[in-house]
Amino acid sequence: MPAPTSRRPAAKKVASKPAKPPAGKAVKPAAKPAAKPAAKRAPARKLSKAEEAARVARVVAGLERLYPDAHCELDFKSPFELVVATILSAQCTDKRVNMVTPVLFGRFPDAAAMAAADQAELEEIIKSTGFFRNKAKSILGASRVLVEDFDGVVPDEMDQLLTLPGVARKTANVVLGTAFGKNEGFVVDTHIGRLAQRLGITRESDPTKIEQDLMAAIPREKWTQLGHQLIWHGRRVCESRKPRCGECALVADCPSAGIAGE
Ligand code: SF4
Repeated sequence: MPAPTSRRPAAKKVASKPAKPPAGKAVKPAAKPAAKPAAKRAPARKLSKAEEAARVARVVAGLERLYPDAHCELDFKSPFELVVATILSAQCTDKRVNMVTPVLFGRFPDAAAMAAADQAELEEIIKSTGFFRNKAKSILGASRVLVEDFDGVVPDEMDQLLTLPGVARKTANVVLGTAFGKNEGFVVDTHIGRLAQRLGITRESDPTKIEQDLMAAIPREKWTQLGHQLIWHGRRVCESRKPRCGECALVADCPSAGIAGE
């Protein structure tokens, strides 16, 4: 394994509130520390600002090489479907959501139909995604606001999206970036929060502050796509409990190589 270029103190764990969907996936806490203490490591030389920027640029380039075709793994055919799918994805896998949405959108294809849905029927359809009562309330509420305030059309402005029940900044960033191609902010879900910490892009634990650090470190035109690439790396290699540093292409530039997940 190539030696990492830097070692920095482990980032604080990302704060995790009790699950409170459907405002968006809460960022999960980092994996529990192992019972035995980590081996002592040589103190790292602090990188200069320019060296640190170059390191982050290499991480970004590495992710772009690894996942050139990374994309949102939620299935959707319209901004409305993406709003609903993202609400459903709170504390649930994209795979499970993708099993539910064909039935859901077959029955309620747009905001007007969804706004008029019977809550009990809606809950039954989305039950397997978990937290279905709160999610149903958010979906109904968001659909009604879309109908009443936006003629049933999902707006492409952050402040307007945030008026929809169940839509917080993370979901709004998903919709703006993935449905409208607008880099207004950086999505911070559980994978991106964890990866940003492990890769030394942030030492924060609050998703809002993590987003600010990501926005400061990454060129704006890359925000949406790099978000997908970070999620893909988090799902495929840098998993929460068992990061596979031994087979990670970013190992040379990762300050957590060999110690993440301990
Ligand atoms: S798998 Fe290991 S080396 Fe790769 S990004 Fe995660 S912590 Fe760093």
